[in-house]
Amino acid sequence: MSATDPLLAPVKAADHREIGGVGMDVARAGAGRVKRLIYPPGFRWSTHMKAIVGTDLCMHAHVGFLVRGQIHIQYADGCTLEFTAPQVVEIEPGHDGWVVGDEAAVLIEIDFEGDTAGRLGMPPCHTHAVPSRG
Ligand SMILES: [Zn+2]
Repeated sequence: MSATDPLLAPVKAADHREIGGVGMDVARAGAGRVKRLIYPPGFRWSTHMKAIVGTDLCMHAHVGFLVRGQIHIQYADGCTLEFTAPQVVEIEPGHDGWVVGDEAAVLIEIDFEGDTAGRLGMPPCHTHAVPSRG
């Protein structure tokens, strides 16, 4: 990939951070935020992020669009999800996840900081207890 690859190039008017090896570019939009996340090959949430975040599993909801790469999601109850770009992503809180293969995964995501699941009508944690929509 060239340095001018728009999926990897610096994002205008966004805050850039790097946490646990994940490159994050974040910009406010309406009541929420739009983010570009670059997960490097070999990244696994429980290995690289868990100690930083301090929860057993990732308790964020992820809604967005995987534009490059492949990710695998594992919920506490054993349910799994696999996403391969290009694919819309919907991940409920309460999961581990990792990059599959030797290519970085690039995810464009919308969030409402601490209230993403609530604002998007998703359960606060992955469960089969309540039938989901539709
Ligand atoms: Zn499940």
